[in-house]
Amino acid sequence: MKISDILKTTRPTVSFEFFPPKTDEAMANLLDTLSRLHELRPSFATCTYGAAGSTRARTLEVTLKIKQQFKLEAMAHFTCVGQRLNDIDNVLENFATHGIENVLALRGDRPANLPEPPQGWFPDFKNAVDLIRHLRKHFAEKFSLGCAGYPEKHPEAPDFETDLRRLKAKVDAGADFIITQLYFDNAVFFRFVNRCRDIGITVPIIAGIMPVTNVAQIQKFTAMCGAAVPEQMHIELNPIAEDPEAVLRYGVDWSTRQCRELLAANVDGLHFYTLNKSKATRQIVENLRRTAALR
Ligand SMILES: Cc1cc2nc3c(=O)[nH]c(=O)nc-3n(C[C@H](O)[C@H](O)[C@H](O)COP(=O)(O)OP(=O)(O)OC[C@H]3O[C@@H](n4cnc5c(N)ncnc54)[C@H](O)[C@@H]3O)c2cc1C
Repeated sequence: MKISDILKTTRPTVSFEFFPPKTDEAMANLLDTLSRLHELRPSFATCTYGAAGSTRARTLEVTLKIKQQFKLEAMAHFTCVGQRLNDIDNVLENFATHGIENVLALRGDRPANLPEPPQGWFPDFKNAVDLIRHLRKHFAEKFSLGCAGYPEKHPEAPDFETDLRRLKAKVDAGADFIITQLYFDNAVFFRFVNRCRDIGITVPIIAGIMPVTNVAQIQKFTAMCGAAVPEQMHIELNPIAEDPEAVLRYGVDWSTRQCRELLAANVDGLHFYTLNKSKATRQIVENLRRTAALR
């Protein structure tokens, strides 16, 4: 089923994001995580696409497992970085042939550890908007398309308003919904949604939620994607940083409160960055359902 259709009848959606594992052992761990999280009846689940190439084939494999083995609606992420038009079309045709109906259409990032290919990193499509236009023109309605949004602006964008206009261009080109980058402060998300609505972006905006389970990891991620760690979170995490159980409890508590506030504001959807682990996401969704904040 297309996510655009799911969003017509289900709000808020609950979705889980996974990444393609590199080894067979990591794949076994992911299947264990999927078996624990599919019991929570998410609206859909997604699998990321390795921009640097090593795990790209596994995106289709994991997306199909989500669909066929776990009977959940699934979305494959896709990045056009480093790929020529021919390769892009081959991957997308392959997705369609295997019955994938949902694609998160992304530009991706230049891999830091690889030499630039002779054609450059962005040979045919410079930005996600070009990919979305192409998908709508050549794949018509084969896929429901999502795109990425940045409540704290994309790190390369000169300013928030410019980035927002570029987001609107992606929606005008055919994106059916937006999933946001992770963020921790709902005020930032509410401002983003309000400005999106002001400039005429009407599609659903799904909030990206990353439960903190490891302090060093969260520092690394936020440095990469430009999300701010609130001062309060810094202060409260510092003394417990070396105690994994305490960090997990803290992360679950923070995200539960964050989601409750979003649900009270009628958010369109909650998208959990699971990092292929089940514990934190499971506890948060159970907390929300226990208090009837979430059906
Ligand atoms: C929900 C989500 C899922 C993700 N999944 C993956 C994944 O699976 N694999 C992966 O490798 N990465 C993933 N990413 C990261 C993403 O690839 C990076 O954030 C990347 O830097 C930008 O991708 P984009 O599709 O947002 O690009 P774009 O929309 O192209 O934006 C990138 C930059 O270009 C600017 N820009 C856009 N249009 C124009 C224009 N016309 N002219 C000039 N500048 C322009 C934007 O302002 C922005 O600064 C994900 C991000 C999110 C939020």
